[in-house]
Amino acid sequence: MIKRITLSENATDTIINAAVRGYEAPYKEERLGILLGRVSGGIALVKRAVVYRGGERTRTSASVDPYKFELRVNALQEESGLDFLGSFHTHNEINSSFSSALSEADKTPLCDDPPSLIEIIAAIWANNASVRPSRYYFQGSGGGYRYRFAGYDYQRGFRILPIYSRIAC
Ligand SMILES: [Zn+2]
Repeated sequence: MIKRITLSENATDTIINAAVRGYEAPYKEERLGILLGRVSGGIALVKRAVVYRGGERTRTSASVDPYKFELRVNALQEESGLDFLGSFHTHNEINSSFSSALSEADKTPLCDDPPSLIEIIAAIWANNASVRPSRYYFQGSGGGYRYRFAGYDYQRGFRILPIYSRIAC
């Protein structure tokens, strides 16, 4: 059973950069990617996050061809020697509102085989208000943006999982 998610510094950087690039794309786009690492002692340690460039992306959704996605997941597992943990995607602020909650569409995993264990949503918004610390979210700011990462357990009813990063925010 997964009790929490820990992100490596590298994976954190990759997800933040993907969120910023998506936000800065014309009309804003969601970005998504693959999480690789290990589960041990109840901790899902995300060692690598890899942006996935296939599929359709709009400002409120992202979808992929499941077959092509699985091929990419399998190739990455082999190349890295790490396990597939799940995926991440970004949520942009639209009309001054944003959400780090899973939408109904988000409850369909991008990959079934190997199974998705977790999903990370990285919400990003441009705002100068300070970010309050949270027990559940990893939150931070930089380059004029604020972001909030939320982690969900795909195997146990989309329960929210506390998420930490090895990066100082
Ligand atoms: Zn979503």
